[in-house]
Amino acid sequence: MTEKAKFKFKCLEQKCDTKACHIRPNINVTHGDIARWTKLGYLRNILPGFTLKLPKSEDDLISIEMLRKPLNTDSESTACIFYNEGANSCEIRYSRPISCRTYPLEYTGEKFILSSKDCPGVGHGEVNKETLQEARNLAEQEFNERNETISSLPVVYTIIMNQMLRQSAEAMQNLSEEDRKKMDEILGQTPEDEDKTEKSTDQAE
Ligand code: SF4
Repeated sequence: MTEKAKFKFKCLEQKCDTKACHIRPNINVTHGDIARWTKLGYLRNILPGFTLKLPKSEDDLISIEMLRKPLNTDSESTACIFYNEGANSCEIRYSRPISCRTYPLEYTGEKFILSSKDCPGVGHGEVNKETLQEARNLAEQEFNERNETISSLPVVYTIIMNQMLRQSAEAMQNLSEEDRKKMDEILGQTPEDEDKTEKSTDQAE
C-alpha cells in the first residue's frame, strides 16, 4: 500500500473466513500491552496466554508472543491461544494486543504497509480522514512499542538470569557437607547408576 492509496478496512469479525489475524505466525505482545492489562486488572487472566520467545539463531530476536494451539478443523495449522474456534472470535477482543488492533495495517518506520493479503476486511467499510489518521497513529504506536520491547527484553532477560545464577550459587554455598556429598553423588551418577539406585530403593520398599 502506498502513502496515497486509500486504505479501506472493516473487520468482518465472526464472519471472517480466513482467520488471518488469529493464525498469523508471530502474535507479538509489547510492554505497552502488559502495562495496559496491568492497569485494567486483566493481567492475571491474560498472563498464562503469552510467553517469552528465545532466539533460535543469531539473527533471531528475543520477543514476547502469544502461545498457540492447533486448530480442530486443521491440525496442521495453529492459532492464537485466545482464538475461540467454535465462535470464530477472540476471547479477549476488547483487550487484545496492539498488534491485533492494528492488523493488517503496519508501520515499518518509513511507510505504512499491509502485513497480510489474506485479510478479507481490507477494501470493506468506509474510512474517512479522521479514522485513517487514527489507524495510522495506532500503527505507529505499535511500531514504537514493538521496537522498545525488542530492545529492552535482552537486558531484562540478562538481569533475571544473572539473579537466578547468583541465587543458585548462594544456595550451593549454603549446602551442608552432607547435602553437598549427596549432590556430588547424584551429579556423578551415570544413567545406569540411577537405574540401580531406583531398583535398590524399590526393593527396600
Ligand atoms: S489476541 Fe485475539 S485477535 Fe489477537 S490473535 Fe489472539 S485471538 Fe486473534
